[in-house]
Amino acid sequence: MREVVALRMGHRLPRDERISTHVALVARAFGAKSMIYSGQQDEGLERSVRRVVEEWGGDFEISYHPDPLKVIREYKRKGYFVLHLTMYGLPLKEHLKEVGEKVLVAVGSEKVPGAVYEEADLNASIGTQPHSEVAALAIALELLCPSVFTREFKGKKRVIPQRKGKKMEGKNG
Ligand code: SAM
Repeated sequence: MREVVALRMGHRLPRDERISTHVALVARAFGAKSMIYSGQQDEGLERSVRRVVEEWGGDFEISYHPDPLKVIREYKRKGYFVLHLTMYGLPLKEHLKEVGEKVLVAVGSEKVPGAVYEEADLNASIGTQPHSEVAALAIALELLCPSVFTREFKGKKRVIPQRKGKKMEGKNG
C-alpha cells in the first residue's frame, strides 16, 4: 500500500476555511497519513482536524509550512514522488504505474505557481474539467491506495451502518 502525504497549497482566510478542512478530512478518510498546508496559517483549521482525529481515530496529522516549494523539494529529497493534481495534467488513471510507493499529492486553491508544475514528478488530471481540490484528492487517493470502503479507524466514535436512520457507538456531540 502506498504511503501518501497530502499538500494543500495556498490556504486563504476566511475563504478556504471549509474547503481546506474538507481537503484534510478527505485526506484522512481516504488513507493519507498526514496533510501539510501552506498559505495563511489557521489554528481553527488545525484544531478542527485534530478534534476529528481525537474522536474518530487514526493517527492523521496536520501541519503548516509557509512555502510549498520547500515542502516539495524536501519530500523529493526524502524519496517521495511528487504528484501535482491539475486539470491541465496527464490523465492520472493512465499514468498510475509511474507513481512511486511514497507520494506527496499536491492540490491548489487559487493560481498555483509555475514552479510547482516544474518541480512535480507528474502533473496529473482527474478529468480535464475544472472542479474541486476535494474531489480531485478523493479520486486520486482511491486510485493510489484503494481503501475507503475497507479502512477501519479505532476511534471513540463509530458509525454502525443502517439502511435507514443513524446509529453510532460512542460519545455523541
Ligand atoms: N484556477 C486555479 C488554477 O489555475 O490553478 C484552479 C483552482 S481549482 C478550484 C483548485 C484545485 O483543484 C487545483 O489547484 C487542483 O489541484 C484541483 N483540481 C480542480 N480540477 C481538477 C481536475 N480536473 N483535475 C485535477 N485537479 C483538479
